[in-house]
Amino acid sequence: MQPRGAFPWPGVGLAIATALVLVAATGQFLLTCAVLFVWLGTIWLSHWTPPEIQRVTEVEAYDAQRLARLIENSGTPILLTKRSRIIVANKTARKVLGNYVLDQDARVAFRQPGAIKLIDAQANGRTRIRGLARRRDEWLFNRQQLDDDLAVIELINLTSEVDISRAHTDFVANASHELRTPLASIIGYVETLIESEDSITPQKRQKFLGTIQSEAKRLQNLVSDLMSLSRVEAEKHDRPQDTVNLRPLVEKAAGDGAGAERMQRLQLEFSDEPAILGDPRQLEQLVRNLVDNALKYGAHDKPVSVRLDITESGEPRLSVSDQGDGIPAEHIPHLTRRFYRTDPGRSRASGGTGLGLAIVKHIVERHAGRLDIVSQRGQGTTFTVRFPRPAEAAEGS
Ligand code: ADP
Repeated sequence: MQPRGAFPWPGVGLAIATALVLVAATGQFLLTCAVLFVWLGTIWLSHWTPPEIQRVTEVEAYDAQRLARLIENSGTPILLTKRSRIIVANKTARKVLGNYVLDQDARVAFRQPGAIKLIDAQANGRTRIRGLARRRDEWLFNRQQLDDDLAVIELINLTSEVDISRAHTDFVANASHELRTPLASIIGYVETLIESEDSITPQKRQKFLGTIQSEAKRLQNLVSDLMSLSRVEAEKHDRPQDTVNLRPLVEKAAGDGAGAERMQRLQLEFSDEPAILGDPRQLEQLVRNLVDNALKYGAHDKPVSVRLDITESGEPRLSVSDQGDGIPAEHIPHLTRRFYRTDPGRSRASGGTGLGLAIVKHIVERHAGRLDIVSQRGQGTTFTVRFPRPAEAAEGS
């Protein structure tokens, strides 16, 4: 016979003390011994566990402890349940579900019909569950029964996978819409020109042809930006290796971005001549996009300044400032999203594709830099790109 847990000394002590008081008060030694015997016997019986149950409990506790140690540091949330009660939850599971999850009923912890069905049926199976830790997260709930009582529950986070696939779907839908609009317009005007034959005045014909040309150019810009974006994205984990002298590159690219007719609005200020590890073609594109935007959205009678310097902490810094209407604060965090525009009509009218800043963001990320946007309503906007210090860039590459 084996005892269960620590021996109940306080109970035994109380029984003996009571017996001593009883014998002193009554002098009935034999009767007191009988009462003491029954009392101690009850304590002993309640403390004793049959050996077979004792063994199973010890093995279970041992197994559960071993499993708990084994899974504690896994990056996947894993739980062990006994019937439906959670008896082990590793660190990641406690982080996702909260510390109180231990000892809780798994059906209460998960609260989702699919998961509850598997737990109630004590079945092996998987189901998707949503909103476990945050409102929009998505998990695969995988339950495997180990024996009559014990089961393991593993949770696989599908949130980023689902987000990526949603982003891809949105991107395809947006890109198709952007391509369809100029195409529909080109087809419409060409059909009108064909059907009207000679009934259309030369001026009108010229106007239609002009629209067809600008819509075709819009398509061309869009396809070219889509290709740039996919190239930059494909290379995003490749740290650039070429040493690039920024001053001549910025000078040339800013001029290209402005074009001959807007050149006089450009003010270049170079206080330093930083060199970075970079991809010259992508850096040129970054400068062109920022300068083109500043000239497009800045006040047309005001200059755009392009500054290049090195910060006090040694980071090469490029900033492009305009004196336009500025950007409302609520739009700023979204500007680098593909096809995001604060004013779609104005963007399209000026030949914008809505992809320029998305491309800039990816180029900055590939160069391990940082993009900051500061804007004041009615005063203008400054886009600043900070590149890593040359020593840090060399370490990171
Ligand atoms: P777009 O081809 O439309 O110019 P971008 O990705 O380059 O696309 O820019 C996204 C949006 O950000 C623009 O449509 C515009 O609304 C806003 N934006 C970008 N640069 C500026 C700026 N310098 N001043 C004001 N708004 C800007």
